[in-house]
Amino acid sequence: MSDTRETELLASVPDGLFIGGEWRPASDGGTLDVHDPSTGAVIRQIADATVDDGRAAMDAAADAFPAWAATPARERAELLRRAFDLLQQRKEDFALLMTLEMGKPLAEARGEVGYGGEFLRWFSEETAHLTGRYGPNPEGTGRMIVTQHPVGPCYLITPWNFPLAMATRKIAPAVAAGCTVVVKPAALTPLTTLFFAKLLQDAGLPAGVVNVVTTHASGPVSEAIIGDSRLRKLSFTGSTPVGQALLKQAAQGVLRTSMELGGNAPFVVFDDADLDQAVAGALAAKFRNIGQACTAANRFIVHSSVADEFARRVTERVQAFATGRGTEEGVTIGPLIDDRAVAKASELVNEAVERGATLRTGGSAIDRPGTFFEATVLSDVQPGSDILREEIFGPVLAIVPFDTEDEAVRIANDTEYGLVSYVYTKDLARGQRMIERLETGMMGLNVGIVSNAAAPFGGWKLSGLGREGGAEGIHEYLQTKYTLTANPFG
Ligand code: NAD
Repeated sequence: MSDTRETELLASVPDGLFIGGEWRPASDGGTLDVHDPSTGAVIRQIADATVDDGRAAMDAAADAFPAWAATPARERAELLRRAFDLLQQRKEDFALLMTLEMGKPLAEARGEVGYGGEFLRWFSEETAHLTGRYGPNPEGTGRMIVTQHPVGPCYLITPWNFPLAMATRKIAPAVAAGCTVVVKPAALTPLTTLFFAKLLQDAGLPAGVVNVVTTHASGPVSEAIIGDSRLRKLSFTGSTPVGQALLKQAAQGVLRTSMELGGNAPFVVFDDADLDQAVAGALAAKFRNIGQACTAANRFIVHSSVADEFARRVTERVQAFATGRGTEEGVTIGPLIDDRAVAKASELVNEAVERGATLRTGGSAIDRPGTFFEATVLSDVQPGSDILREEIFGPVLAIVPFDTEDEAVRIANDTEYGLVSYVYTKDLARGQRMIERLETGMMGLNVGIVSNAAAPFGGWKLSGLGREGGAEGIHEYLQTKYTLTANPFG
C-alpha cells in the first residue's frame, strides 16, 4: 500500500460538519484528531461539533422533513440505489479508509463495504413495496384503513467498530421510509461517515435529509438533540450502559427508540458436532474485526469429551495468524481500537488465569507502536471469571467445558445479554431444541456469522430493542395510522 494513496485518500475526506447540504466548520472553530490505531499517528483533523452545531443539524433535519416525506417512494428508492452503485465504484477507497481509522484488516474492510452496501440495496427495494390495508370492520358498519407514515426526524448514533455498516444499517431504512436524520458517528472513527455523506451528496441527496455531526462531546450534543421536541426517533448502536442512559433521555419526548447494544454470545459445541466446521466457525465468530464485534462469540461452551481437541485445533490455527497493520498483505489480526481496549483484554485474561484457566497461547499486549494484543486462547475457564460475564471486545477465545445439554443451556443463558448464540451439532432435534431454549435474538446453527441485510438483526434482554435489516427494519422508521370511515353503502 503506497503512502501516497493513503495521503490522497485521507485528503479527499471532507473535514467539516454536514448540515443542510453544506460542509461547515464547527461554530467555535474546534477540531478533533482522528488516529490510526496501528501507529498511533494523527491521520486527519475534522470539525468538532458544539451543542449549537447539533441544534443546527436538528433544524436542518426538521426543515427538510415535510418535502422528503412527500417524495414518492420510487424516487427515494432510486437515490438509495444510486448510492449503492457509487459505493461499489468506491469500494477500495471505503475499505482502505476503514482500515486506516479503525484498524481492521483490508480484506475484512472490503467485506464490510459489501455488507454495508447491502442495506442501501435492500431498503431501496423495500421502500417501493410498502402497503396499507383496507377492509370492513367485523360489525360491517364501517371501513378500516391502515396506513404507514414516516415517524419524522431521527437521531442516529453509531459505534466505531463497523463504521460503514452501522451507518448504512440506520440511514438506509430511515431515508427509505421518508425520514430525515442527524447522524453522529463515534469520535474514534468519524471519517467513513463523512466520506459516505459525500457519496450521498454525489448520488443526489436533497439538502437536510442526512446531516452529520462529528464531536468529542457526545453527551451534551446528544442531549440537546434528544431534548428537541421536533425529534421523533432515536436509534443507537453501542454499549449497554450508554443505551440505558439514552433511553432515560428519550423518555421525556416519548421517542420511538431502537437500541442495538452489547452482547456476550455463547458458542456451544456438542460432542456430535463436525469439529472442523466448529473450529472454522469459532475462528470467524471470535476473531472477525479483531474480536471487536457485538456478535463476537464470548464464551466457548464445549462438550468435555471434545474440549481438549477443540482447544488444540483452535490454538494451532490462532498461532498461525499474522498480526500487523491492516493494510499489510496477509494480516488477519490488526490493532485494538485504543489503549483502554488493550488494558481491558489484559485484565480479563489475567483474572481468568488467576482463577485457574489454562493459557494456551497469547495473553499479552504486543510491544510495538499502536495498540496491539496477541490472539489468545484460554481453556478450562472457571465459573465466576470476569471474562465469562463481560463483553471481551478483543481477540481472546475462552473455553468452558460442559457435560450435559441442560448444563450447556444453563451456562449459555447465564448472562444478562441476549444478542446472538452459536450452536454446533449434527443432531437436528437437538438443534431445534436449542433454537427454543437459548435466550438470544439471533442464532447461528452450524455457522459462525449471521449478519445479513435481509435478516432482522437485534437482541433480547440487555442487548436491545427493535430490529435492523430485514422486512422489520423499515418499520422502525414508520408509524401506523388507523382510520375508520362510514360504510359507503349506508
Ligand atoms: P459506546 O456506547 O461507547 O459508543 C457508541 C456511540 O455512542 C458512539 O458514537 C459514542 O460517541 C456515543 N456516546 C458515548 N457516550 C454517549 C452519551 N453519553 N450520549 C450520547 N452518545 C454517546 O460504544 P462503542 O465502544 O463505540 O461500541 C462498542 C459497543 O457497541 C459494544 O458494547 C458492542 O457490543 C456494541 N455494538 C452493538 C451492536 C449491535 O448491533 N447490537 C453493533 C456494534 C456494536
